[in-house]
Amino acid sequence: MKTTRKGMLLVISGPSGAGKGTLIDRLLKNDPSFAFSVSVTTRARRDYEIDDVHYHFISEEKYDKLLAEDAFIEHATVHGHRYGTLKSEVYERMERGQNVLLDIDPQGARTVVDKEKDCVSVFILPPSYQKLRERLHTRNTEDPVEIERRLGNAKGEIEQVGRYQYAVVNDSLELAFEQLTAIVNAEKQRTIRYFPVVE
Ligand code: ADP
Ligand code: 5GP
Repeated sequence: MKTTRKGMLLVISGPSGAGKGTLIDRLLKNDPSFAFSVSVTTRARRDYEIDDVHYHFISEEKYDKLLAEDAFIEHATVHGHRYGTLKSEVYERMERGQNVLLDIDPQGARTVVDKEKDCVSVFILPPSYQKLRERLHTRNTEDPVEIERRLGNAKGEIEQVGRYQYAVVNDSLELAFEQLTAIVNAEKQRTIRYFPVVE
């Protein structure tokens, strides 16, 4: 049976350091049906980050201009910096049948879940608060003050897990990736995504 397909919008969220980026990198390497929605941010680029690959790094002025143009599906201030998901990264791709993946904070995830009824939402949980702390220190991308700020925010974020359709505990990376893959593969087969063409 010939079919046309509408892409899936996959929202992955969770506290900083839970392992979202690690799981997302794997998913994107393993599954070419997914495109990553590159967000805009006003925060400074980290050494290993590439502009327009990890984020579109922009000035506060450019961010204000995009806001005024209604260019965002959602936007939020996260750990003191501004982030936003561009409509141009998402909707056209979905119409073409491509799956689109968002790595966004719980405030943004809430907006998207409310707006996009067919989206798939997954919350990544750390195995423990202590492990979350260790991971943020091991990653070593923020200074100790910023790490404490992120850990402080994590408590409230984790309490919101019930807003998501799925939760994955990222203790063993292998198991967490297996679980994420199982969710994604089942969601791909939902009838809402298929439009049969009867010839
Ligand atoms: P997030 O994107 O949620 O902020 P990252 O993917 O950057 O988190 O992961 C935070 C740190 O934890 C990184 O140093 C990463 O290599 C490490 N990490 C991710 N998953 C695991 C895991 N299952 N076990 C141990 N360390 C992990
Ligand atoms: P980081 O600065 O460590 O890359 O990301 C900090 C937080 O911002 C993470 O929770 C990440 O998911 C979130 N984030 C990244 N892009 C966006 C976005 O476009 N919108 C929202 N709401 N959060 C984002």
